[in-house]
Parts: sequence; C-alpha cells; structure tokens
Amino acid sequence: MEEHDGNGMDEDLGFLDEVVGAAGCSVCAQLKREGPADRNYTVMPAVGGGWTMWSAALVRLLRRIGHDPTQAMIISQPGRNDRYVQLLIGHGLAQAEVSSNAYLTGDSRLSEDQEDLLARLGWIQPPAKRAGRRARPTNWTLPLVRGDWQYLVEMFLATIVGVFDFSDLLPVEIRGFLADQPCAKCSWGDELASA
Ligand SMILES: [Zn+2]
Repeated sequence: MEEHDGNGMDEDLGFLDEVVGAAGCSVCAQLKREGPADRNYTVMPAVGGGWTMWSAALVRLLRRIGHDPTQAMIISQPGRNDRYVQLLIGHGLAQAEVSSNAYLTGDSRLSEDQEDLLARLGWIQPPAKRAGRRARPTNWTLPLVRGDWQYLVEMFLATIVGVFDFSDLLPVEIRGFLADQPCAKCSWGDELASA
C-alpha cells in the first residue's frame, strides 16, 4: 500500500489539493463519491450451522466483493474479547492482519502459546519495536493473497476458533468500509503490476 503524498503539489491548489491529495487520486475520489463508505456484512450467524456454514458464507462474500474497489474489513466478536482479524481486499488482492498485543489489553492479550500458534499457522510476527522509533506498531500479517479466498477463510477460521477463542454461540461482527485509497493503483501499486 503505497503512500502518495502529493509531492511537488503547489500549496495553493486549495480545493483540488483536498479532493486529490487525501483521496490518493481522481479515480479514488470518484470511487469514494460513488460507493457507500460503510458496509456491515451479515454472514450467517454461526449459531445453527456452526463454523462450517459460517466460513462457507464468508467465502461467498469474499468472492462477491474481492474484485470491487478496495475496502477494509474487520472481523471481531465483541461479546467474547477484543481480538480481531482485519483485511484489506479489492481488485483481486488481499492483505490480512490479526491483532497483536500492541493493540490488546487485559484478558484479550495473546499468551506466548497463542502467539506460537499464530506463527505456526503462517502469520508473520510483527517486527520488534526498535528503540527510538515512533512508527505505529504493527499486527501479525500474511503474505499478500492473490484471489485464493478459500485459503484466506481457512486461515481466519483456524485463527479465530483455534487461537482467538471466538465462540460459535455468539454473533461474529463483520464491519466493512471503503479504503482511504480504493483504486487499484493507489491500493496495490507494484503488487498489482507483479500479479
Ligand atoms: Zn487512486
């Protein structure tokens, strides 16, 4: 996900700078005008079908939206704990993350055993915080996923059931919102070119 900082732009652009600068580009700006900003997805509640039905429904959802303008999705179970899976998905590509202890407190924090499980599933550990660095701490990540939504959902399922301790007796919340930079070029840039 490349940052376009509008370098070389004249400060006096005013209105245009607001529309183009923050949005990434004019394509992004157009997508943001057209699309709803927030979407909440109802993937069949786990109750009455269990995780098998739930994950099949999630695969169908990702197939439906996987080539749309890039959006962010957050999968959580607020009734259980604060752990979450998040996803940037669009134009056939997806970048997935799961919450690290940098963002978790109290009982929601991951134990060493749970972190070990995440690593064994294939999640890449966030880099250790370097002294003096003020960069935002990062989450656990997966290598870029190219259209294999089935694999992605299997990873999510193993993670939320096997590590995050989500319950199939409580609703799972899936919140979605259009990415800040939803066009293919601004979302994925070089990654898209090498797809
Ligand atoms: Zn753009």
